[in-house]
Amino acid sequence: MFNINQMTRKNIRDLIPYSSARNEFSGLANIWLDANENPNDTQLNRYPDPYQKDLKKLISDWKELKTNQVFIGNGSDEIIDLLFRAFCEPQEDKAFIFPPTYGMYEVSAQINNVEIVKLPLNKDFQLPTFKEIENDIKSGGLLFICSPNNPTGNVFPLEEVKRIADNFYGVVVLDEAYIDFSASESGMSILDSTPNLVVLQTMSKAFGLAGLRVGMAYANPEIIAVLNKIKPPYNVNTLSQTEMLNALNNRDGVARQVKQIVEEREALVAELKDMRSVKKIFPSEANFILVEFEEADKVMDVLRKQGIIIRDKSKEVEGALRLTIGTTQQNKILLETLKNI
Ligand SMILES: *Cc1c(COP(=O)(O)O)cnc(C)c1O
Repeated sequence: MFNINQMTRKNIRDLIPYSSARNEFSGLANIWLDANENPNDTQLNRYPDPYQKDLKKLISDWKELKTNQVFIGNGSDEIIDLLFRAFCEPQEDKAFIFPPTYGMYEVSAQINNVEIVKLPLNKDFQLPTFKEIENDIKSGGLLFICSPNNPTGNVFPLEEVKRIADNFYGVVVLDEAYIDFSASESGMSILDSTPNLVVLQTMSKAFGLAGLRVGMAYANPEIIAVLNKIKPPYNVNTLSQTEMLNALNNRDGVARQVKQIVEEREALVAELKDMRSVKKIFPSEANFILVEFEEADKVMDVLRKQGIIIRDKSKEVEGALRLTIGTTQQNKILLETLKNI
């Protein structure tokens, strides 16, 4: 059933990609006169490795994949855009989302002139049953599942993700930006058995490197090859590649921080539970919580006056605000301010 040529946009399938200097020759040499670089050493006078070979070696060892199952983007947001360009024929294919969810899917669809089909989550923020959406998702294109979901914080069962993917004639994107904060199993475990699945992860959240702009896509080699074909040649810059190598060689600190953030999350939930201004706290497996307040506007205002900025999600979920988990000290100030409302 999986047929990369039928899923790929025709112009992309037929595209002869740009071939950069570092693509045409990447071996050892003494004198580099092929890329019109400035020969004087500034540490950054040379173009970066277009295929990030050293990084992919480390990442594939870490994730137990082959290097040709790994794609690195200038943040996950670049990868989302590339997926649209690769797998959605504008005004023909569709993109399916389960709102409330991450806003970039819809914006990226609009930028690429692709129609969005919204299949809302149910009251408990769970996916609609397969029977309920079976007919809606008959056409191809892209389908996004964000788990843990932003902004609701919950995860979706992998069996349901798999069932949808197995019956979708297009590419299913499982966005796992927050998976490190979750006790649930990653979709990486169904990657080999699900050829049309792309798992997105990022350095922006658990790794504390949002400024680096590095996101990863894991998928079967045929999908990765299409992304490689259309990406800007030097999409991950030298500084980001170097810093990410360092980060991957120092992963212990990340695990400690994740553990601490999760503990802080649970402590925050416990404190918020008893507050009069709080109506409902949605269970979260991420580094944020979605909270329904009696008077959300007032809470936003009071916090802002104290210099505390949270995210207003009341347009998507009535009365709901999204709070990112801060340090112990930050959370303490947040709680004190909320108690005074
Ligand atoms: C934060 C976030 C990302 C990360 O995007 P980057 O471009 O990698 O920083 C991806 N998906 C979701 C749902 C997010 O909330």
